[in-house]
Amino acid sequence: MSREQATARIEELRSIIKKHDYSYYVLDQPTISDYEYDQLMQELIALEAEYPDLITPDSPTQRIGGTVLEGFEKVAHRNPMLSLANAFGPEDLRDFDRRVKSLVAGEAFEYVVELKIDGLAVSLIYENGVFVRGATRGDGEVGEDITANLKTIKALPLILSKPLTMEVRGEAYLPKREFERINQEREQAGEPLFANPRNAAAGSLRQLDPRIVGKRNLSIFTYAIGSIEGETIPTHSQGLDLLHELGFKVNPERRVLPDIEAVIEFVQSWTGEQRAALPYEIDGIVIKVNQTHLYPRLGTTAKSPRWAIAYKFAAEQAETILRDIIVNV
Ligand code: NAD
Repeated sequence: MSREQATARIEELRSIIKKHDYSYYVLDQPTISDYEYDQLMQELIALEAEYPDLITPDSPTQRIGGTVLEGFEKVAHRNPMLSLANAFGPEDLRDFDRRVKSLVAGEAFEYVVELKIDGLAVSLIYENGVFVRGATRGDGEVGEDITANLKTIKALPLILSKPLTMEVRGEAYLPKREFERINQEREQAGEPLFANPRNAAAGSLRQLDPRIVGKRNLSIFTYAIGSIEGETIPTHSQGLDLLHELGFKVNPERRVLPDIEAVIEFVQSWTGEQRAALPYEIDGIVIKVNQTHLYPRLGTTAKSPRWAIAYKFAAEQAETILRDIIVNV
């Protein structure tokens, strides 16, 4: 492809992706599958890697996709809420491993694997053990204050078992059963259906009336400590154990693994059948370096940390979702 052709295609991809971002993040109504979206994004990433001087700060490859809706108070995050780089096969995971190893220069480390829950990222602030504020990720820097809505989630502790001051990150989600129930009710009421549980969860949490949110039976898994006063947590897995001890719901399918080959084996063990049996949707596996003291050395790109990556499941599921979307919109 000539430089001229690449420039034109880059422009085209950016405009298509921005349109899909709006449908997904603002309207909560995607019009293509995540698999197709990821392919467009990968094509843009590859073209920008070939022509780095064409990268602009507003390119979708450089920005977190969300936005902040009117009607909610805006909240500036103390630490940015980033996205995750994607891996689509074992070779992408091996590349990730090579990058990590070269950056940590010989220091020993492990990986933690967790299910990638397909919901909405939220930040939860606790002061002296009391839940004081919760926000959406928004554009990563500024989110929406959805405290009243989050308080309706029964799995979210309003008081912790220790009086800690901390920021916790998690994924609010809609169990599959609730998603089906809500869509049945909407169908009977002649209302538009939700495309998938992720969009239903996002749409619910951005309702202005917490009473409606309360009827949606959302749940939440927490997966990270954003910041904590007076404690040092040397590994991510210890952080997850602490969250569990404090009263949070933490996904039990997490493992600490010694190397990338063990990670690949874990990822491949999540076959369609095993996924289908889960009572909630997952769209991949998240892989993180366990030793947190290495994080500053690994650093972040414009939109994702270099110490973590999301392995995205292949098309099989995407096609099902796409069919659902076509049926539902
Ligand atoms: P992401 O899906 O690339 O990954 C980051 C998010 O993963 C985090 O913000 C967090 O919410 C979540 N997560 C779940 N479990 C986690 C765990 N255990 N540890 C850490 N994080 C965990 O996030 P993104 O930037 O919101 O979205 C990009 C993706 O959204 C795309 O790859 C695409 O699949 C989808 N998308 C689809 C469309 C569409 O039109 N179909 C449009 C935009 C985005």
